This record gives sequence, C-alpha cells and structure tokens, in this order.
Amino acid sequence: MKVAAKFKADASKRWFALDYRPLELEQQVREFWEKHRVREKLEQQRLEHNRGVLGYVEGPPTLNGVPHVGHARGRVMKDLRYRWKSMQGFYVPFWAGWDCQGLPVELEVERGLNVRNKRDLLEKVGEERFVAECKKTVMKYHKEWFEADKKLGVFMNHDKAYWTYLDEYIEREWQYLKHAWEQGLLGEGYYVVAYCPHCQTSLSNAEVGLDYEEVDDPSLYFKMKVKNSKDEYFLVWTTMPFTLVTDLMLAVRADADYAKVRVGEETWIMAKQRVEPLMQELKVKNYTVQEVVAGITLEGTKYEYPFLDMVPRQRELDQQPFVHTVVTEDFVDVTTATGVVHLSPGNGEDDFRAAQRRKVPVYVPFDDEVKFTADSGEFAGLFARDADSHVVDVLRKKGLLVSVKTVTHEYPLCWRSHHKLVWLARKEYFLWTDKVNSRVVEAAEKVRYFFESPRNRFLSFLKEGKPWCVSRERVWGAPLPVWTCQNCGNKVFVASKKELFERANAEPPQDFELHKPWIDRLVLKCDKCGSSMKRVPFVLDCWHNAGASPFARFTEKEFEDFVPVDFLTEGIDQTRGWANTLLLEYVILTGKAEAPYRAFLLQGLAQDAKGRKMSKSLGNVLEANSVLERQSADVFRFYALWKCSPADAMNFDMQELNKRPYQVLGTLYHLHRFFMQNAEYDHFNPKQHTLRWAEENNVLRPVDRWLLSKLQQTVIEYTAKLETCEFNFAVETLETFVVDTVSREYVPMVRRDLWSDEPQTLNRRLAVYATLWQTLKTLALLFNPLTPFLCEFLYQNVHRVLDNTLPESVNFENWPTPNEVLRSPELEQDFDMLQRAVALAYSARQTAQLKRRWPLQKAVLVAPKRQQKTLRNLEDLFLELANVKTVGYLDEPSVPHTDAEERRWKMASDGDLHVLLDTQRDTNLLGEGVMRDLARRVQALRKELGFTPTDILEAVHLAELGTETLSLLEPYLGEMAELVRTKRVSLHTDRSGVKVDWHDYALGDKRVYVAITNSLRE
Ligand SMILES: [Zn+2]
Ligand SMILES: [Zn+2]
Repeated sequence: MKVAAKFKADASKRWFALDYRPLELEQQVREFWEKHRVREKLEQQRLEHNRGVLGYVEGPPTLNGVPHVGHARGRVMKDLRYRWKSMQGFYVPFWAGWDCQGLPVELEVERGLNVRNKRDLLEKVGEERFVAECKKTVMKYHKEWFEADKKLGVFMNHDKAYWTYLDEYIEREWQYLKHAWEQGLLGEGYYVVAYCPHCQTSLSNAEVGLDYEEVDDPSLYFKMKVKNSKDEYFLVWTTMPFTLVTDLMLAVRADADYAKVRVGEETWIMAKQRVEPLMQELKVKNYTVQEVVAGITLEGTKYEYPFLDMVPRQRELDQQPFVHTVVTEDFVDVTTATGVVHLSPGNGEDDFRAAQRRKVPVYVPFDDEVKFTADSGEFAGLFARDADSHVVDVLRKKGLLVSVKTVTHEYPLCWRSHHKLVWLARKEYFLWTDKVNSRVVEAAEKVRYFFESPRNRFLSFLKEGKPWCVSRERVWGAPLPVWTCQNCGNKVFVASKKELFERANAEPPQDFELHKPWIDRLVLKCDKCGSSMKRVPFVLDCWHNAGASPFARFTEKEFEDFVPVDFLTEGIDQTRGWANTLLLEYVILTGKAEAPYRAFLLQGLAQDAKGRKMSKSLGNVLEANSVLERQSADVFRFYALWKCSPADAMNFDMQELNKRPYQVLGTLYHLHRFFMQNAEYDHFNPKQHTLRWAEENNVLRPVDRWLLSKLQQTVIEYTAKLETCEFNFAVETLETFVVDTVSREYVPMVRRDLWSDEPQTLNRRLAVYATLWQTLKTLALLFNPLTPFLCEFLYQNVHRVLDNTLPESVNFENWPTPNEVLRSPELEQDFDMLQRAVALAYSARQTAQLKRRWPLQKAVLVAPKRQQKTLRNLEDLFLELANVKTVGYLDEPSVPHTDAEERRWKMASDGDLHVLLDTQRDTNLLGEGVMRDLARRVQALRKELGFTPTDILEAVHLAELGTETLSLLEPYLGEMAELVRTKRVSLHTDRSGVKVDWHDYALGDKRVYVAITNSLRE
C-alpha cells in the first residue's frame, strides 16, 4: 500500500469539517447566496428562459406579532414549491406581501398604548397618532418576519413585496370593489351581524367562525302566558336572557305536534316529542298530557310580554300586528329545548328575517358598547350580557321562571380580543354575496385541495352563502370610499385618488393619504343638488383588503399573466379567511364561476410537543426566530415536512428535531465526504469517468446498476408525492434511499472495491465513483427544495470542485428526470432476494450470539432452483455482507442428524428461503474475529481524535491483551494495519512503560488498552 501518498493527498485539503455542523455551514451558504445574488439570478434566469409561468400571490401574514414555528412550517412549504418548480423550469413570481391593517394590528397597538376600548382610544390618543403607531407596529413586526425568512432560507422576493396599507394598493382594491358597487352587489343594508363589544365593530360571518371556545352561559327555562287564558303558558328556553328585552314574537313549527301538559295548576305548551325528556330534566314527576295539537293551530296566539311595565317602547310595539304573537317558522327545531322559540329580531339572524317577512319593526336599543339605551326603559345603561341576571330576577319575581342553570357550550368569541360576540341588527355595508353564491360554490368545486377533509369543510362553509358585512367601525383600514350627500342622500363611490381630488371642494393637504382621518377631511360636491357630501364612517374589513390581492398587488398586465394563480398554501384557519375572501372577490370581479387559484393546500395547525394548541396564555408558543437561533434551518425544514401530512396538525417537539432529521441529513453529508475523500485521491473526473465510460470499460457491476435503478425509482416517487402535496411521504422516500439504500446497502457492498489503491483496480474504483457521482448529485438536486443550505454546500464543495463547468448554484440546475435506460426492476428484485438472504444470516447469527464482524466458515442457502441462480450471481456480495468464507446451495433444508450437528448449524427462514449457518469457529476464525473487534476500537478512537478515514497513522499501540488473545491475533496484524490505516501495530505487555495517551475498552470480559501516535500530528 502506498501509504504516504494517500496521507498527503488528504492532509493538503481538509475541506470538510469532521462532523455535520449545520449552523456554521448554513451561515456560509447565506453569505454565498447574498454575495453572488443567487436568489436574484434565479428569478431573472427563469423570467428569461422558462417552460411556462406559474402565477403566485403571497398570502400576506398579518404584521401584528412575531412568526411562530407554525408560520415557519407554512413558509417552508411555499419555498419548497418555489425551488422545485423553478428547477423544473417554470417562472414563479414568488413575491412577498404583508397584511398591515385591520383589527389585529389595531388591538396590538391598543395594548401597547394601554387603552381600554375604542372610545378611550379616540379620546386619549386620537386618530392621527393612532395611525402613526399602527405603521410603527407594522414595521416592527416586519423586521421579525424578514429575519425569519432569511434564517429559513425562503427565496421570496422581498423587494417586490406588496403592503396592503399603501395608497396604490388601496386604490386597486377600490377598483375591485367598484365592480361590486356597479353591479348592485355592494350596498347599505340593515342586517343582523356579529358584533364585538370590546372592539366596537361588526365582524363578518367568516370571522365569527375563527374562534369558538367553551364558555359558561345561563340555561333558562321560562314561561310566556297565553293572553286572556287562565293558566296556559308557552314553555321557552334560552341561553341569552338579555334578549327577552328585545323579544317580539314566539315561533313554533307548523307541521310538528305540540302538547298541552298539565303541571300542577298550570298548562304548559311544548313540542310533543320533548315532553318526556323535559319533564325529566325539570324534575317534574306529576304531569299529564291533556291535548296534542298541530303547530299551525297555535299560529296567531297572543302572549303576554312579561316586561310591558318596564319597557315603554315595548308597550307601543305591542300594538303592532304580529308583535307578541305566535308565528310559524321552518327553522324551529323540535328535537331540542321546548320547540317554542322566542324571537328577538334585533339580536338574531333568523329572528330578524322572520320580522322582515312580516314587516315587524326591528327593535335594537343598544349603543356602540352594546349597553341598553334609554329606549329600553328600566334596562337602560346595562351592558347586554350584564342584563342576563336582572332578567332572571324579574322573571322569578313574576313567577315565570321555571329553572335556571349554567351550561358550558361552544360559543363564538371575537377572534382578536376573545370577547363574547353579540348579534345585533345594524345598518352596515354588505357585499350581497348570497346573490352570486351558486357561482362561488361552482368555482370552489373546480379547485384542487389535495386532501378531502379541508375540501369538504370549505365547500360546506361556502354553501351557507350569507351576505358579507364588509364595513367596520374602526380606524386603521382601507376606507370605504362611499360619499353621501348631506342634503339629498345621493351616494357616490369614488375609486381613485385622482377623482377624489377633482371632486373635492378644497385642495388636499400635503400629508394626505388614503386613511382616516385625512380622507374624512375631503368634502365632495353633490352632482345632484350641489350640497356637500361626506364619507360614510366605515373602513373595510381587513379580510377584504387581503382578499383583493390577486388584483390589487399586480399591474393589469401581471394580473393577466399570473391570475388565476397555480398554487396557494395557507393554514386551515384561512378556510373562512383568505381562501374565502379571495374567491368571493374574484367571482364578483370577473363574473365567472372561477377561483383566482387552481389549487389550495390548507395546512394543519401547529401544536406543542404534547399536542396542545400554542397560545400565549399557556406560554408554549415557539417563536421561529428564537428556535432558528439555535437550530439548523435545514433540519427544521426537513422536520416540518417529514413529521406529518401537511394537512394534519403538527406537534412540534424540539427534542425530536435533532434525532432522525439530523441523522438523515448527517448521513447525506457523510456520504458526500466519504465519496469526495476517495474520489479526489483517485483523481476521479466526472466528465471523463462517466457511466458510459464505465460501461465501455466493463467495470460497472450489478451492484452499481442496482443502485442506479433504485435512484430512478426514487426520482419518480419523490416527484409524484410532491405533486400530490404528500410532503411527508415524499421526504420518507428520500430518507429511505439515503439511509438504507445508499448508506446501509450500497456502500458496504462496494467498500472492499475502494479499499485497495492498486493501479490495476483503479478503473473499478472509478466506476464506483461514477455511480456515486450520479447518485449524490441527483440527491443534492432532489433535496434542494427541502434543505437548500446543505445542498448548496455540497454542490459547491463536492460537485463544483470536481466539475467546474457546473452552474454557479445548485438552484440553477434542472430537476432530475428518470432515465429509463438505467431502470431495471428485475435487478431490484434480485437484490431484494440477496438482502433477504443476508438478513436471514444475521438472524441466525443472533440466535448463536455471534457478532456480524466475526467471520464464519460457511453458510448454506436453501431455495428453489430459480432463486438459487439469482443468489449465485450475487454470491460475492453475499459472502461479503454475511461475512462468511464459503457458501453452499440446497433445494431442501436438511434435517440435522446428531445433537452436535444441531448445535453447530443454526437456521433462519423466510418463506421458501432458508439460511443455514456453520457457527463453529477454529483458531483462525477466532483470531480474525479478535482482530476485527480491536480494529473497531481503533477506528472509533481515530474518529474521536479527529483523523479522517484516509489519514495514515504512524502507529497503533495495543497493551495487556493476554497471551491467549495475542497468539490468536498475531497472524492478522498485517491485515489489521491495513484495515485501520497505520504504518505499524505495536504490542505491549505492560502499558505503564509506554508514554502514550492510553484509552481503555472492554473486550469480552477483559479490558484492553489502545493508543494512537502520529508524528505529523504531534
Ligand atoms: Zn373584539
Ligand atoms: Zn345632494
């Protein structure tokens, strides 16, 4: 062996650190990307040369907080798609976008300013300063998001970012909305909306679904007396007693049976099917059903409204037709409660519609803080939910209370401030999306969602088709550009700054922008009567703001080119949010049953390691930046995609991150290191030593062909799983290939080929390098969308070192496509058989407690004839892997004839394949086994001391082996020296006389001492 040469070759170039240290490596790559403007060049290259354009619009993160690991997971998925599609040759406008306005930002600022509610805010802070504070907050959080993208290696173009608060964006959004206005799909209306008493604004139907929590409410059974009856009552149930103040009707179901039930001295009316369960629940033992009537016969029955004496306005309403009268409605459910529903048109959507149909006036005596106004008599001044107990008290005094308990139920809270929502009839601006609902649903059905359950969830939500309340009584938002004439009531919709200035009756101020309070200072002239027009007080729902992005963030030309976009992905909470508003606005804009996206992947939520939702109150939120301060971005990216399906909720366990994900990437790294150290030593030149060259020189073996075939299969499977967004399965495909196929199977099968450095076997070594070059380079490309830092590092330090004609960055490479010529399913089957046989040999060894590194004399393979032929062809590999000297073949397993034979031969079986192993070892085999044991200790020590595998050591010292071991070992010292790469092995009977750094190990039940000396290192 030409020891010195090999040592020098390696010492001159220590280009890989010993271990995979991702944090350092990633910093190097970040600097490389910036210095060489890799992201910019990639975008430019694909803009100039592409095989198609795939539109993209960024789902803008709201800049009201720092990104957590769940956000990071979503960004990793976006970046994965971008890098992959770019490598496939597509141009993708992967441009950033930021959601800057609306309640989330306002509330974050309110917290900072320490104000209690909106009134407080306007009095103490004022709109101008508040807007300035909102902008500051947006910029503060933008820094965090930008930082996280940089750490994660997200190749998004931040220079082309859109900001939803900028005038130019708002103007485009207005033009979008103008289509709705002109088609009569936007207008003022009176409707029941969800309202947050804290934020003092209405919310959209979509927002209501964003936060349901378990809350306590009163569960109240009470009676409403039938007018002019002696003792007949309707039995009614509610969880919102305060709505009795605004009660106007009772509703029953026309086609259902109602029972008149005698309870004590009274008759109660309720749904017949509810009698038994109710009497049980109310603990009424003695009762009799006196009569059963159809719901329809109750219609028109007047009842005594219990608070007539307390609420003067209700005395007036009592005179109106239908008021305090039983009506029939289909929405009444007779399978729960009493089947008699009290209607408060001011506080309920169904109730409101029932009133509208009958032209019953709507009674809504609430101010902006949801306190009862003077119009509610004795209840005036009480916050609605605080009136609950008061109502119960009054009912009790009047003898109308049947039962009151507390129920815990799911109830919608404000998605931002977590206050209980209240339903109120209000004058608001609505997009009458109910009118285009069939088109919306049709559009949504054409979209690809990849997984069934998010699709069904989305479609069933859309089918509700309720009008969209888009007006908000807030400050920091895109203003609703409707001006109303103070004199004649004429309304105009002004969709641009230019038009606004033309119509204004004064010059706009210098610092003018399209926000409150500046915009409200513009007074327009009415073109009907010449009087002045003022803007309506509303800003737009921030979901409308973000939902306008496919139009508002692009120019006309870009909109034509990019929309409908190819693929979007956001969190599952965007089902009611962005996914919904994008769709509604686009259908209104185009008038077509088409969504602005062709595919939408809705991601599961992020949870902590124990599967709990991440929340500030639990203190279990993992912030992306602080995690990525300590953790590798590649390992994180790998973990985020590998752990579970993107549609599932993911439990982030930081312990788990550094186990398997780190191990897989470490294996990929070490495979490259192993390859590079050997390939460089043998002057491998990938342009000369190609697979074709290996073929022509007849040095390619079945094991290489097998690996190359498996590689093609991996390309096919991985790409297919990426297409279907089964990222976890895609990653698993690569994981198996790297860890099992290449590292555990292929490398051991060619290790012996690489061992020698004789010139006559050089070509065989070059063939192995050609195979590994093909495999590892393909892997670097396949991994790139997943772990771009590691791939760039390997590409620069391995692939580009060996081939300087390669593109400047791995990102500029083309996506691998399978090479059919290299595929051989038959060969893969043959190797499966070989691996089965090897596994059986291992299992037989285990039975006999013989380590794999101890050589054995013989194995007998028992298999049907045809399989024997396959195994014979791969015999060399079997000998190597099973670590036996010879192999025999049999058609049938032979039965052992003697006890001794039975002890000596161990068998393992798998179907019709059996392996018999001769477990007897003579002194030669024992000696070689001892040598292997010791060699393993030396190898571990070499690694520990920082030597690379190709380093040649000066000397290896072994001490206190004992005479028996020594005599076994002696014949194998030469082989050992070669195996552990040392010039000599020195044996010492007593370690104390030798001044080296001894390390002790267990060898069986003895201790042995090992040391390494190396003059060049010392
Ligand atoms: Zn709120
Ligand atoms: Zn007018």
